[in-house]
Amino acid sequence: MSKYKVNKDGYYGEFGGAYIPEILHKCVTDLQQCYAQIIDSVDFQEEYKYLLKQYVGRPSPLYRSERLSKLYNTHIYLKREDLNHTGAHKINNAIGQILLARRMGKTRIIAETGAGQHGVATATVCALMNMECIVYMGKTDVERQSINVEKMKLLGATVVPVLSGNMTLKDATNEAIRDWCSNPKDTFYIIGSTVGPHPYPEMVAKLQSVISEEIKFQLMEQTGSSQPNYLIACVGGGSNAAGTIYHYLDDDNIKIILAEAAGKGVDSGETAATIHIGKKGILHGSKTYVMQDEDGQIIEPYSISAGLDYPGVGPMHANLAATKRAQVLAITDDEAISAAFLLTRMEGIIPAIESSHALAVLERVKFCPSDVVVLTLSGRGDKDMDTYLSYNK
Ligand SMILES: *Cc1c(COP(=O)(O)O)cnc(C)c1O
Repeated sequence: MSKYKVNKDGYYGEFGGAYIPEILHKCVTDLQQCYAQIIDSVDFQEEYKYLLKQYVGRPSPLYRSERLSKLYNTHIYLKREDLNHTGAHKINNAIGQILLARRMGKTRIIAETGAGQHGVATATVCALMNMECIVYMGKTDVERQSINVEKMKLLGATVVPVLSGNMTLKDATNEAIRDWCSNPKDTFYIIGSTVGPHPYPEMVAKLQSVISEEIKFQLMEQTGSSQPNYLIACVGGGSNAAGTIYHYLDDDNIKIILAEAAGKGVDSGETAATIHIGKKGILHGSKTYVMQDEDGQIIEPYSISAGLDYPGVGPMHANLAATKRAQVLAITDDEAISAAFLLTRMEGIIPAIESSHALAVLERVKFCPSDVVVLTLSGRGDKDMDTYLSYNK
C-alpha cells in the first residue's frame, strides 16, 4: 500500500475526504463503490486504451531536448502531452470519465471549465459518445477565452456563463456542483482535475497515470533505465502532475518538483501559489490547502495562466508538500513567459503558459551533468498567443 495514494477512507494523510451535501451522498457513494472495479475491468481498459491510441494519438512522445540539455548541462526529456488531440493532457481524463458515465447508465454530462481546455475536452468526448453536455464557465472566462467557447458550441455543448463571485473557475465549479445536486440521478459530473470529493482525485490521477506508465518504458528504451532523477510538472489542480508521478511515487530516490503559479509574486496579493500561502480548509468537497483570509473567505487567485488560476490544490499534492515528498516552487508570470520564449526559440515548440511554469523550474534548480530530468509539457500554446503577443512588447 502506497503511503502517497488514497487510503480506504478517501484521504491522503490528513487531506481529501468527501465533504458534500446530503443530497449527493448516494451518487458519490455509488461512484466510490464502483469506479475502481469498472476502470480495472478488461472491457473498460480495452475501449479506453483503444481510444487513447487511435483517437488521442498516444503514446505521446518523450522527446530529448538537445539544446536545453546543453544549456542546463544535464539530460532533459520533455513528455509531449501538447501533441494529444485537443492539445493537452485533459483529454485522457475526459475519455476515461465518459466511458465510466456510460457504464453507470448516466445520460447527461456536466463540467466546469476555466480557460476552456477541460470544457473543450469534455465537449469533444460528448460529441464522440453522442451525450448531452453542459459546461459551466465564469462570465469573465467566457469573455477572455472566446475561441474555446466557440469550439464547445460547435461541438454541440451548451455553455452556461456564471455570474457569481469574480466569475472564474471557482464560481463555475460551485455552479456545476449546484446542478449536480438538482440532477443527481441521471447526471455525471466530469471533473477536470485531481480535485473534488473522494473518489475524484484518485480517479483522475489513475486516468492520467498513463503518462508515467509511458515515461517508464520510453525512458527505458532511450536511456536503458526507467528511473529518472527528477520529475517536473506544473500544478493547477494537479492532474498532469499526478499523471507524471503516479508510478514513481514510492521511489524516494526520484525527486519530484511541482511548479505552482506565483502570479506577480507570492507576497504580492496577486498570486495563485496555494501551497505557499494557503491554509488547511475545505474547498469543492475536499480538505486541502485553500487561499483564504482569517474569516475563511476565499482569496481570489491571480495568475497569467487561466489553467493555474485556482485557490485550491488537489489533496494528493497537499499531502506530497506537507510530507516533503515533493518540492514546490512558486513561479512568477515573468519567469513563465521567459521560459516559454526560450523553449519556442530553442526547440520550435510553443508551450502552453501553464507548462511554461514547469519549464521555468529549469532555471531555479542546479542539476548534475549525469541527471535525467523528465518534464511534462501539459499543453500547446496556441490558446495563449494573445498572452504571448501582448507580453512581447
Ligand atoms: C488545465 C491545464 C493545466 C492545469 O491543470 P492540472 O490539473 O494541474 O494539470 C495545466 N496545463 C494545461 C495545458 C492545462 O490545460
